[in-house]
Amino acid sequence: TRNSSLQSERLNVLSDLSASVSHEIRNPLTVTNGFLQLLNKSETLTVEEKTYIEYALLELKRAENIVSDFLAFAKPQSENMIYSNLKEETEYVKNIITPYANMHQVDVQYAFQNSLSFKYDKNQIQQCLINLYKNGIEAMKEKGGVLSIEVSEQQKEIVIKIEDNGIGMTKEEVLRLGNPYYSTKKEGTGLGMLMVYSTINKVNGKIQVDSEMGRGTTFTISIPV
Ligand code: ADP
Ligand code: MG
Repeated sequence: TRNSSLQSERLNVLSDLSASVSHEIRNPLTVTNGFLQLLNKSETLTVEEKTYIEYALLELKRAENIVSDFLAFAKPQSENMIYSNLKEETEYVKNIITPYANMHQVDVQYAFQNSLSFKYDKNQIQQCLINLYKNGIEAMKEKGGVLSIEVSEQQKEIVIKIEDNGIGMTKEEVLRLGNPYYSTKKEGTGLGMLMVYSTINKVNGKIQVDSEMGRGTTFTISIPV
């Protein structure tokens, strides 16, 4: 429809823009964070001054979350296009998310069985996987659990299944996934799933969400090849 093509055009512009700012933004955030931490150690601070610093640190954290939900892998686009089978990307992202999983008593299981290749933007796919893995882990924050990632090939489709046994979602919550700024987390950005839907949309993929409150969630992404 006209609306959805307009929307995906906007998302394209958005991802081009984000490509150019990601690294530029991360550095000053890190530096500012460092100086505020130092300042926070001063023994002459009043209670009020300390509160201001805490707020500033929280807001910085929020900005940092936006960068990591949306811009982490962003780089100039065309050179990121590859023809491959997702093995490298799923594995790489699993490896970089594992310390975060360990921090939250989450065990990561990974299985890859497929050989189909297709054309995709490596960085966008990595970012998209990060966002999904991260959400899965965050859904299990309280009790720990298992994040299971499975990539397989089914009748000319690549199927990526990402399953957690975390808090789950209601039907209404599932419907709101991908709406910009929809988040139920204290420091959430509500940009992660927007990025996921936009990326999968670009490769003509589909996302199926099965979720049950208190039981967990399974994202099944199928991409035609
Ligand atoms: P954020 O993670 O910053 O909140 P996202 O766009 O990544 O933003 O996710 C939006 C919301 O969708 C989350 O706040 C959460 O409520 C819900 N959500 C996403 N993935 C899961 C999941 N695996 N389990 C439970 N809820 C989820
Ligand atoms: Mg998220």
